Formats: sequence, C-alpha cells, structure tokens
Amino acid sequence: MSILERIKALFRREKQTPAAPAPEPQQPAKTPKKCRECGKTFMVDPSWDHIPNYCKACRQRFAREKEEKQRAGEPRKIRRTCRSCGKVFTFPSTLPHYPNYCGNCRKQHQAEMKERYGKPVQRNK
Ligand SMILES: [Zn+2]
Ligand SMILES: [Zn+2]
Repeated sequence: MSILERIKALFRREKQTPAAPAPEPQQPAKTPKKCRECGKTFMVDPSWDHIPNYCKACRQRFAREKEEKQRAGEPRKIRRTCRSCGKVFTFPSTLPHYPNYCGNCRKQHQAEMKERYGKPVQRNK
C-alpha cells in the first residue's frame, strides 16, 4: 500500500465515522386531552398547575358568555382577579372592554409597551 493510498484510507475512515447525534431539543411533554364541552382533543402540558378541562375555543366562549351575563342587568361593580398579580380588583359593568389586569398592572404594562414600541414622549413647553 502506498502512502497516498493509506492517507486516502484514513480519510475514508474519518468520513465513515458517524457524527455524534445532536441532542434532541427538550420539548415539554404534552399529552392530549379531550374537551368536556365539544369533544375536541387539545394538548396540555402535565407540568401545568391547572390542567384545563376545556379547549381554548370553549374557554374563550365561556368567558364571553360570562361577560355578557355580567353586562346584562343593572350597572354594578364587577370583581375580577388580576391575571398578573392575582389581586382582586373591581370595575363598572358598563365598561366596553372588561380588563383582565388590575389598574397597577395595566399601568405598568402600558409603560412597558411605550418603552418598547412607543416613540419617546415629546413635551412641548
Ligand atoms: Zn371545546
Ligand atoms: Zn395586577
């Protein structure tokens, strides 16, 4: 065997060495769950604190129906738990859009949005 052939053989061997398989990206293990309302199967993550019994579309519909019920009748105060801080806050039932966040969190969220996307506030003196 000539040196050239040996080198060629070496290269061949290197090429044949299978590359170490790339580690699979860690996907959260999701399990299918059947919606109790419409029977549609949707995916839930077992690590969630609360596993929903209904698919997203049904949950959105329930929320809308609940809101419509709250809107009907005499204007009154609606109590809701803030989705961000968990504090209970109230707002009048006549509001066109029912808030999901308490006043503080909304203010904070708006400030963050302004910082991220808004133009710097121009103050004319
Ligand atoms: Zn459903
Ligand atoms: Zn809040």
